[in-house]
Amino acid sequence: GVALTIGLGACGGSRGGSSAQGGGTTIQKGDTIGVSMPTKSEERWNKDGANLKKKLESAGYKVVLSFADDKPAQQNADIENMVNKNAKIVVVAAKDGTAVGPAVEKARDAGAKVIAYDRLIMNTKAVDYYATFQLEQTGVLEANYIIDKLGLKKGAKGPFNIELFTGSPDDNNAKYFFKGAWDLLKPYFESGVLVSPSNHGGGVKKDFGVKDWQRISVQGWKAEQAQKDMESILDSTYAHGERLHAVLSPYDGISQGVINAIQSKRPDMVPGSDTWPLITGQDAMELAVSNIAKDMQGETVFKDVNKLADAVYEMIIEIAQGKKVSGINGKFNNDQIDVPSKLLDPQNITKDNLDDLVKADYITQERFDQLT
Ligand code: BGC
Repeated sequence: GVALTIGLGACGGSRGGSSAQGGGTTIQKGDTIGVSMPTKSEERWNKDGANLKKKLESAGYKVVLSFADDKPAQQNADIENMVNKNAKIVVVAAKDGTAVGPAVEKARDAGAKVIAYDRLIMNTKAVDYYATFQLEQTGVLEANYIIDKLGLKKGAKGPFNIELFTGSPDDNNAKYFFKGAWDLLKPYFESGVLVSPSNHGGGVKKDFGVKDWQRISVQGWKAEQAQKDMESILDSTYAHGERLHAVLSPYDGISQGVINAIQSKRPDMVPGSDTWPLITGQDAMELAVSNIAKDMQGETVFKDVNKLADAVYEMIIEIAQGKKVSGINGKFNNDQIDVPSKLLDPQNITKDNLDDLVKADYITQERFDQLT
């Protein structure tokens, strides 16, 4: 409210106004920083949350870490709780990028800085910074894997059957992942080298556009939903021994759903042989490490969450010291403002370089050996 803004004196921003400089913010050791994660049910957020908490605590801050159990209302309550505990900065990986807006506006009104973590917070001015991985690059890596393996650049004519999935409609990232992939795949749809024979999402034909991405989305990134969708694709279009050459999947959990569907509907498809489709993914989840070792998944996109936590940690320290945040190398529009962004590079992982995950300290050698 107004009184609060006046109380903050010179550094009080206008309601929801963007305040990219430190502007007199001082955050002391012992102050509280909130870290709001969307769910425990997807592997990476557990690591993301734990990494940030550890780094911030060892720098002397108090950390309130919460997981929203996939519920937007829960996440908003979590953030309000952080505000009540006088959090000076809130770091938010949104469950629903739009629904979380009112909660971060409350945080901003109370004088906190807001950092969107991995997923952009949409349609509000109350976001100071965004840190994530180059979003389209995820889709580029996935599409290039398929293009290479099918020999499309070498002139293979196909036609090859491919089915496409996108991520959750409430996650702004999902559209960018698909854009990166579709920009590369679309020319092959136009020339007829790639075809999607099923009626998934009303059919993916050469006139399909990035704007249509939600037609082939998987609500909440859920494996169960992907499995159901893939089963109906297989029943309707691949029930008589038809070849399926590739499945574009944007996330390892969705890939697992696709694999489950294939195993239940098409036992004649054999991993490691020509009969098994190329399947992509993202996150280098443990289940993907094991699926890749077993030739059930071909590729995943590795996003080193340790590095993302480092990047956000550096941001927090600079904000705390009232310095200008360094390392900003992009911006994303959230339908209200351009949010200054730090963008890291994702990495392509296949069976050939699977042990890069150990080298990067993402997974221990012991665990890797158990999984592979
Ligand atoms: C993240 C991905 C993750 C997906 C599902 C996206 O917002 O950027 O890394 O695979 O959510 O959790």
